Amino acid sequence: MPGILLENMDLVTMDPELGVIEDGYLAIEAGRIVALGKRDELKPGDYAGYERISSPKWGKRFIALPGFIQTHVHTSQALGRGLADDVDLITWTRKRIWPYEAALTEDDVYVSALMSIAEMLKSGTTTFCEASGVNPDAIAGAIIDSGMRGMVCLSTMDLPGEIPPEARMTTEEAIERNVGVVEKWQGKHDRVGACFNILNLFLSSEELWRTLSALAREKNVFLQTHLAESLDEVAFIREKSGKTPVQYLESLGALGPHLLAAHVVHVNDADLDLLEERDVKVLHCPGAGLRIAGIAKIPEMLDRGIVVSLGTNSPPCNNRMSMLDEMWLAGIMHKAVEHNPQVVPAASVLEMATVNGAKTLGMDRVVGTLAVGKKADVTIMNFNQLCTTPTHDLFSTLVYQANNDVVHTVIVDGEILLKDGKLTTINEDWLIAEAERRARAIVKRANIKF
Ligand SMILES: [Zn+2]
Repeated sequence: MPGILLENMDLVTMDPELGVIEDGYLAIEAGRIVALGKRDELKPGDYAGYERISSPKWGKRFIALPGFIQTHVHTSQALGRGLADDVDLITWTRKRIWPYEAALTEDDVYVSALMSIAEMLKSGTTTFCEASGVNPDAIAGAIIDSGMRGMVCLSTMDLPGEIPPEARMTTEEAIERNVGVVEKWQGKHDRVGACFNILNLFLSSEELWRTLSALAREKNVFLQTHLAESLDEVAFIREKSGKTPVQYLESLGALGPHLLAAHVVHVNDADLDLLEERDVKVLHCPGAGLRIAGIAKIPEMLDRGIVVSLGTNSPPCNNRMSMLDEMWLAGIMHKAVEHNPQVVPAASVLEMATVNGAKTLGMDRVVGTLAVGKKADVTIMNFNQLCTTPTHDLFSTLVYQANNDVVHTVIVDGEILLKDGKLTTINEDWLIAEAERRARAIVKRANIKF
């Protein structure tokens, strides 16, 4: 693979020492960043033979920044987008999404994951973590084929409830299958990782929590879950244990730096103390929060130093899968709740989308900033668009103005996956037709009624 030279660009490195390098260059070789700096440090003939990506001769310079990292995405649910709008949560889950998931074939999951990856790439995302995969092998296949970087997991429930028979597991099976996914995918492919999953607190046993938490610590593996997501969950756990959801997990030894907890909306001060002390990672999903879960206390979490990252969550409950939309929402929603336009400023949003995402997934030595030696996961923005004009401040323009139109080029592991706004490894026309066809067939097969 030839090297790539980005030149005549402003580099938003997100590295505290490097900061923003105006009119800079960045060289990529064998999948890694090998050099970066001011463009005038380049000598004629440097990096000869490299593929060059340059800003236009007229207009504003391109912006290069670390690719965004989404820590909570349900890629198996992309073909279910629009299936469960404006319905209550019970209908959403039991009558629409679980029957949809139960009807998915392995090929459906592959196409659904590819849809998710295509939309992530088009909004500048280069790494994601699956939130509750139906078929981790199919998702891993889509990651490998597309050139994306991602972590897979298996949607796991081990208690009886109104769930489709296909989704039910005994506790023993749940443990065995989670270990199987991690053994199969963690560390076996350069761009694919794996973590454990327990879908939620409603349908999981104490034994499952204790065992997977202990294994997560022992094997240095993350555990994805949904935590303190609804008032129903709070009432259910209060009835079951007399505790809050966070304190309940503490009593099971489940809180720790390995725990990736999505939403975390309904928490009190004692819960926040525990999350902070145990270094639990919070996965903030603004679109899904506004629509279903509620609004988490993100300003307070950030003040406490809790690592908060972002995810677009689930296509049937967002329904937009653009990281830039999610960043915009993260930047504005807390200002309304707190009655304070200064909370969660643009720079914090950008940190959540890059360095915090990398810290959350234990990948901060590998991705999350532009620095020599890091993997070449780079997103290039073209601000010569109506939405980003004028550009007074890079961070503000990126968070409050930019939409997917500005995403010009996306590089993952040194490979260009989006070039001039077009996907290079995914046939978009084929994908749209295939996803539409499969989505309709699934609804028919699952007998989902609107
Ligand atoms: Zn979720």
